[in-house]
Amino acid sequence: MIAQPSMIITIDGPSSSGKSTIGQKLAHKIGYHYLDTGCLYRALTVATLQRDIPVTDTHAIIKLATEIDITVQISKMEDGRQYTVLINSTDVTWDLRSSNTDTNVALIATIPGVRQILTEQMRSIADGVSIVMVGRDIGTVVVPEAPLKFYLDASIDERARRRHKENIANGQKSDYQEILSNLQARDRIDTQRESAPLRKPTSAHIIDTTSMKPMSVLNAILMIFHDSM
Ligand code: C5P
Repeated sequence: MIAQPSMIITIDGPSSSGKSTIGQKLAHKIGYHYLDTGCLYRALTVATLQRDIPVTDTHAIIKLATEIDITVQISKMEDGRQYTVLINSTDVTWDLRSSNTDTNVALIATIPGVRQILTEQMRSIADGVSIVMVGRDIGTVVVPEAPLKFYLDASIDERARRRHKENIANGQKSDYQEILSNLQARDRIDTQRESAPLRKPTSAHIIDTTSMKPMSVLNAILMIFHDSM
């Protein structure tokens, strides 16, 4: 049997623009692997905070990134998670979503040495498989050669509302105003950092999801996917 060539679909965009919900559904629908790359930055942030390393200690954080083992696994647990993330075999999936992680992750993601290590890890996860990858710099830096790219956007109020709703659904504490200012701060850092800032890839299909239901976004993407095959 002739093996199908592997294929990478990238979905970039700001926080809570719908990337991970859509990315996971898309991957499931077309039988691809799925990687939410933000979870690698979040896992490193959790490890940094657990060890009381100051987020300004670039050197120590890069060293930590080379030492810890971050694993992303398909999950069978039915507690609302999309996947399970382990740091050195310890399940940290829910720590990834804490407000302390939210507050610090974008700063850690500005460190070029960190980006280099995690980008390599993303590329090796994607090597030889057909995969949907979501993040901030996937279509621009991690796999610029990907043949099909999307960029999802939504207004900041809508994104904060979605995140608030998601937290409540997962039984987590949630404060709308705190989420809103957190998103604003992260958007600023993600778009203004020097290393791999959040940008629309030139060849990306851009979708504003503000007033769209997830199913409509998914259908729009599926149409483009099938047209491109
Ligand atoms: O997508 P998510 O909100 O989980 O990402 C958390 C943070 O990780 C982002 O705010 C961004 O700073 C960083 N990130 C990144 N590049 C990626 C994915 C995430 O810089 N490809």
